Amino acid sequence: MALELEPIALPGVSTDRPMLIAGPCSAETEEQVMETAKELAANGVKIYRAGIWKPRTKPGGFEGVGVEALSWLKKVKKETGMYTATEVATAKHVYEALKYGVDLLWIGARTTANPFAVQEIADALQGVDIPVLIKNPVNPDLELWIGAIERVHNAGLRRIGVIHRGFSSYDKKIYRNSPQWHLPVELKRRYPNLPMFCDPSHIGGKRDLILPLSQQAMDMQFDGLIIESHCNPDCAWSDKDQQVTPATLKELMGKLVIRDMAQSTESLADLRQQIDEIDNQLFETLARRMRVSEEIGMYKKEHNITILQTTRYDEILQKGVKLGASLGLSEGFMRVFLEAVHEESVRKQMDIMNK
Ligand code: PEP
Ligand code: MN
Repeated sequence: MALELEPIALPGVSTDRPMLIAGPCSAETEEQVMETAKELAANGVKIYRAGIWKPRTKPGGFEGVGVEALSWLKKVKKETGMYTATEVATAKHVYEALKYGVDLLWIGARTTANPFAVQEIADALQGVDIPVLIKNPVNPDLELWIGAIERVHNAGLRRIGVIHRGFSSYDKKIYRNSPQWHLPVELKRRYPNLPMFCDPSHIGGKRDLILPLSQQAMDMQFDGLIIESHCNPDCAWSDKDQQVTPATLKELMGKLVIRDMAQSTESLADLRQQIDEIDNQLFETLARRMRVSEEIGMYKKEHNITILQTTRYDEILQKGVKLGASLGLSEGFMRVFLEAVHEESVRKQMDIMNK
């Protein structure tokens, strides 16, 4: 479906890259909201984020202050001149946020994953002209993400953008949410005019990753960044490990290198970044395969079965070569590759046998 889109234009806010949205994960107290806001505004931040209703994985965590905190956002606007932004997950949130003059809304990752919830929000937004940013769903499903964009678009909204916040994965090695850059890259390829923000705070889950992830987003032609900043991060009521003070945020943004937008999305740097990303995924997948292989090794040991099961290895080779051919990979390559994988797998099982 073609999308009619307008830029996320807010009077007085430059659209130079990166458009920056910053503020605490959650609005906690009036003092915390105001102190953080004043420091950010003094550093030139124009759009202030704060979560009012917090979706939590488990009950009992801090679930946000709710409506009361909306009056603090109103005060932020009045006293600092910043625009305000918050997450909405239900129609009621939409009505409350609009009532208090919130300027920009975003739909959180857990909500985007649920078409009923997105539709409810879209219905509540019918006829309202407000910028809405749609976070990727928690699961790496591009169609589901696009579906949410279409629902909001069908409600008549035009200032729509997206936020890449990474995807849940079982293997939490480096990132809190695996970036899987190829998904936003593909989204950009399909909708070149769709404004894209990156959320390095939720992708990385750690302060140290904010700068490298922000740089990567800028190099991949993202339009903006949404970053969590708190006046006292160590004492934050949610996501404390990934929040930075307004002063640190300023320092990090000062280190960002903003390169000219390439004429074509197929610049060499872009393509190389895609290769790096795919390689990372390949290695992660290989590591996962090895872990399963180790489990098989333990099974073989317990049941006194030899490591090498030639019929099984034959089957893997044959299937692999056939599948490879259908994907345009030569037989020679597939054999070398599968042999190398098998060899490493056997080596791992030997270790287990001889432990
Ligand atoms: C947030 O922005 O604080 C948040 C809850 O993010 P996400 O929906 O990406 O988990
Ligand atoms: Mn957060």
